[in-house]
Amino acid sequence: MSRFLHIAESAEDLVLQSHMQRELGRRTGTCFQRCVGMDAANAMWSTTFDIDQKHGSSYHQRFQDFLKTMQKQNCVIGGAMTDVKGDRMLTPSQQEDPDLFVHIHRRLPNGGIVLRGAKAHQTGTLNSHWMIVMPGAALKEADKDYAVCCAIPIDAPGITYIYGRQSCDLRAMEVGNEIDQGNAKFGGQETMVCFEDVEVPPELVFMDGEVEFTGLLVERFTAYHRRSYVCKAGLGDVMLGAAATVSDYNGTSKASHIKDKLVEIAFLNETIAGTALAASYGGKPTPSGNFLPEILMANVCKQHVTRMPYEIARLTQDLAGGFLVTLPGDKEFSHPVAGALLEKYMKAKKGVTVENRRRILRLIENMTMGRNAVGYLSESMHGAGSPQAQRVLIARLMDLEAKKKLAKHLAGIVE
Ligand SMILES: Cc1cc2nc3c(=O)[nH]c(=O)nc-3n(C[C@H](O)[C@H](O)[C@H](O)COP(=O)(O)OP(=O)(O)OC[C@H]3O[C@@H](n4cnc5c(N)ncnc54)[C@H](O)[C@@H]3O)c2cc1C
Repeated sequence: MSRFLHIAESAEDLVLQSHMQRELGRRTGTCFQRCVGMDAANAMWSTTFDIDQKHGSSYHQRFQDFLKTMQKQNCVIGGAMTDVKGDRMLTPSQQEDPDLFVHIHRRLPNGGIVLRGAKAHQTGTLNSHWMIVMPGAALKEADKDYAVCCAIPIDAPGITYIYGRQSCDLRAMEVGNEIDQGNAKFGGQETMVCFEDVEVPPELVFMDGEVEFTGLLVERFTAYHRRSYVCKAGLGDVMLGAAATVSDYNGTSKASHIKDKLVEIAFLNETIAGTALAASYGGKPTPSGNFLPEILMANVCKQHVTRMPYEIARLTQDLAGGFLVTLPGDKEFSHPVAGALLEKYMKAKKGVTVENRRRILRLIENMTMGRNAVGYLSESMHGAGSPQAQRVLIARLMDLEAKKKLAKHLAGIVE
């Protein structure tokens, strides 16, 4: 089966996920839109098991049956966690409009549920077959109706998808400007997913009001997902290659500060990869038997991801030079007057074609300020939780008391 539909049975499985994700980042230069379903499935696997242990429910068996169907049909699954959230300082039930978080609006006679609300920023959901809906935060008893997990086919009646705009997105629609697109092969997309009375049958409901498990589910999902941002090391590999290539083309690659900046890019990028791999290698079994990455290290990984791609982008833009943002477009290069002038004045190092110089500059533009800057930069900042969300987990898991004991012991302090 596809590894994206596989439940991790060992730390080695988690490590193989990480290798796959970096490799796909390298091959696409963007978000390849699939890790969120894999991470949701793994978090749901163990959480449904734990709920059943406490409540005697049958969510785990339901989830297994659903996942087996997904595996047999090789389906793509989107993971829908982030609600639109309204006023961030209010809980779901405190909001002026109850639909600002996805919730159970009413119940069906067959035991099924009817959902209302909206999920924001949904990666790849539009081009998935199914989505797994989950709450996005630890909830209290007053928010019982918001503690809902279920599977929904993408084309279920009552769902409206609203497509997000991206920087430079119209370039992909212009005819004859393949170079200006920067990466004409791959790009990601996100949608807002609105649920207006979407019916879900009981066999596809995997959590219904068990508020005490919402925090655990979010913590587990983010442990998988924050470490999944190893994909950005794959994009960083592309950036390093682009930074080195543009330096070769400009004739600067032997300058000591250029070499040092390439080393800095590699160092930052491998730090992302190293912490992701450490989280995977440190995976431990949950009571359900599947493996969960090491939570502290997964959060350290994602915290690095909120910063390092921005620094790598800055360094690459430094090496690229000003043509990164003043380069004329495809139409100018094929213009009878401007085209000839550009061929003459856009020459850099001997033997390098102007077309190749344009191509590498456009790729860097695409990844640092064009369509795929969504996948390389902004998604690195907010995807799987904005920076502060990781710091909350790091604060909880850094075990200050144990660290104080170490220091006091060496200092000879007796209290
Ligand atoms: C490209 C992209 C792809 C994504 N893909 C998916 C996906 O496939 N599935 C999915 O479920 N989600 C997805 N997300 C959503 C992502 O998890 C959220 O963007 C993230 O959790 C931040 O939420 P927000 O966008 O609502 O920002 P906000 O919550 O508005 O955060 C903005 C700022 O406000 C701060 N803040 C927010 N609430 C509080 C508070 N109560 N107190 C103090 N400070 C606060 C934050 O720390 C941050 O600094 C994606 C996001 C992006 C950008």
